Amino acid sequence: MFGKVKIILHRPIPDGFKIKTASITRKADGYYVTLSLADETVPEIKPDFNPESITGIDVGLKEFLTTAQNETVAIPQHYCKAQKRLKVIQKRVSRRKKGSNRRLKAIKQLGLQHKKVADKRRDFHFKIANNLLKKYDVIAYEDLNIKGLAKTHLAKSVHDAGWSSFLSILATKAEKAGSLTIAVSAYNTSQNCSKCGVKVPKELHERWHSCTCGCSLDRDHNAAINIMNKSVGHPDFKAKSLRSDSWIVLEAHALTS
Ligand SMILES: [Zn+2]
Repeated sequence: MFGKVKIILHRPIPDGFKIKTASITRKADGYYVTLSLADETVPEIKPDFNPESITGIDVGLKEFLTTAQNETVAIPQHYCKAQKRLKVIQKRVSRRKKGSNRRLKAIKQLGLQHKKVADKRRDFHFKIANNLLKKYDVIAYEDLNIKGLAKTHLAKSVHDAGWSSFLSILATKAEKAGSLTIAVSAYNTSQNCSKCGVKVPKELHERWHSCTCGCSLDRDHNAAINIMNKSVGHPDFKAKSLRSDSWIVLEAHALTS
């Protein structure tokens, strides 16, 4: 209809974006072309993305994780066994004479066992991430990247279970699936009551949350609900529920000469 038109481009078209629509408006100082671009690398919102399909996950001492719906995932037995075997081989290495063939052999065994543990853990993490993403569109978790945690008993359990590598697998998979993971502050998630919000102090060994409001449930389940509830007010959650931020609008000023 217009043929070729010379334009003044106010902003360059970024790499990886595709032009979806173009509309022309006439303004006092000339014609404007507005282009809508879609970033093909950012997944569109799932057609069935449901902000109410949400859970929170709590990392525990006993379980690998507990969800806000009180589903628990245990640390698999075969994984524990592989870790025990790792310790046995580690001792073997330290017992044997430095430079000896027998020690070298044990070191080789140790390397293989390390790989075995890592592979099993990875498989386990993928499986759990897939199961969660099949069920939920939004998954909130505690941001455990805090200094205070480093010395606690929980820190060791978090480390042994490979919690941080699990979270990065979960985040990557969620992004591909068009789902959302949200890190929330860990502050008081295990202490506060998930029903009335009152603080109910408890030691680490106390496994049950029992509040005067009548709320009574497993400690980790209570924490998982708090984690889920915190994510609802999170800016990422609001953006995802409302947004269309894989689209940006670009204006190009058409030369009328
Ligand atoms: Zn309460």
